Amino acid sequence: MERDTKPHFVLIPFTGTISHVIPMTDLGCLLASHGAEVTIITTPVNAAIARSRVDRAPAAPHGAAITVTAIPFPASDAGLPEGCERMDLLPSQADVSLFFVASRGFGEAVAQYCLHEAPRRPSCVISGTCQTWTLGLARELGVPCYVFHGFGAFALLCIEHLFKHRPHEAVASPDEPFDVPALPPFGCRLTRRQLPPHFMPPTSVGGKALQGMREFDVAADGFVVNTFEELERGSTARLAEATGKKVIAVGSVSLCRAPSLDPQSMSSDASRCMAWLDAKQPKSVVYVSFGSGGRLPPVHLMQLGMALVSCPAPVLWIIKGADYLPDDVREWLRENTDADGVAGSKCLVVRGWAPQVAILAHPAIGGFMTHCGWGSTLEAVAAGVPMATWPFFAEQFINEQLIVDVLGIGVSVGVTKPIETVLTASNAGGSEVEAEVEAEVGMEKVKKALEMLMDQGPKGEERRKKAHELKLKAKGALEKGGSSYNNLEKLIQSFV
Ligand code: UDP
Repeated sequence: MERDTKPHFVLIPFTGTISHVIPMTDLGCLLASHGAEVTIITTPVNAAIARSRVDRAPAAPHGAAITVTAIPFPASDAGLPEGCERMDLLPSQADVSLFFVASRGFGEAVAQYCLHEAPRRPSCVISGTCQTWTLGLARELGVPCYVFHGFGAFALLCIEHLFKHRPHEAVASPDEPFDVPALPPFGCRLTRRQLPPHFMPPTSVGGKALQGMREFDVAADGFVVNTFEELERGSTARLAEATGKKVIAVGSVSLCRAPSLDPQSMSSDASRCMAWLDAKQPKSVVYVSFGSGGRLPPVHLMQLGMALVSCPAPVLWIIKGADYLPDDVREWLRENTDADGVAGSKCLVVRGWAPQVAILAHPAIGGFMTHCGWGSTLEAVAAGVPMATWPFFAEQFINEQLIVDVLGIGVSVGVTKPIETVLTASNAGGSEVEAEVEAEVGMEKVKKALEMLMDQGPKGEERRKKAHELKLKAKGALEKGGSSYNNLEKLIQSFV
């Protein structure tokens, strides 16, 4: 293998969701912008996404380069249709376990490549969450293994506290609140229902895999976190203290490139969104989106829809895979919303992939209704946009408390229970399973949250001011001498 003086980072994002591939690709772009060599290893479907992002990043200095290497994902060996390389591409939710079987095969192929075929040995492996096999690979290569979870530092700190102190085991019912005093004086109050999947009983389906993930975290050399030190009120330092590991805050990674899009390369969905926004007043629009795959069960979606069409602000509403909706709901959408981007329409619904970072940076956006996924949360912070919070599951209930209570840049819609069923795509025409029959939050409550979000009085102004201050801090963190800039430099220098 050729020797080179530039440290070489091999990034292996979790292949299961786009929302892991996106920030790890952006992390690669940032490392390259600081002069490191980067190889992103992923599946062919995800590699196409990674390459399109790399192509839009500014050229790296000193001839540093990013290579995106696609390793075939053995979907059919696990009994999945060819091309099922992410969880949103599975025919049904029942196939998730097959996806993880294929992931193990993928891990073996990546190890074979890195150990025997790659042109250059890494200085360090940065692994996406769930890819526990990367630790063995890094050990065999004799290099450190850092984990990139895709969670924020406050959430990781709360999770560490829960593992160590287990306050959830002292409550009698799944709805009884308990405190997670991980970052005093800031509180975090959860119920067992709101816990991330890490705390599912070991006997439940996937329990063993989750235990493996915890062991992976404990054995890894540190965490690379998409955040910036000024944001989460000392959470990164506390997390380092609590875990005894290096915690390196390198975000917000979405700021690695300008948010504006090249009109030539925009999809029709993206052009429709941007043209529609161009015709709106500054800070007047509510943007509603629940991440890369989040789907509200139809009963919830109807309550949200009625609130959106009756609120005075114009709304840009992204609905993922609307095919799962029953006919009456689709009919209601057809009658009450605009799908074509008619100039001046009140509620534009987009069913495909929206250019979220560009949307959030658009001057017309005044508020963001989000499921509190960490990627979306940080992108809103980086754009200075206040949020209305509607957590779905995972660590999103913790993120909600950071947004609303710690940072003061959001209003809660008031959801207390996670969405029970994750609806997976029915690409192969398979039927959907849906458990929810009643919406916890009705139209009036959603409307109230939207009113508060767009409030022009002192409380709304205060939220906007705080959001704007954080936007400036996010930008400063990645500028020369900023905290994330320095952390990236230190990380790279540690391998020179
Ligand atoms: N995203 C996007 N367009 C969409 C939906 C999502 O660009 O139509 C991106 C969004 O910008 C973010 C990621 O997908 O980077 C979603 O990540 P997050 O952690 O918020 O949620 P998840 O998808 O993991 O639930």
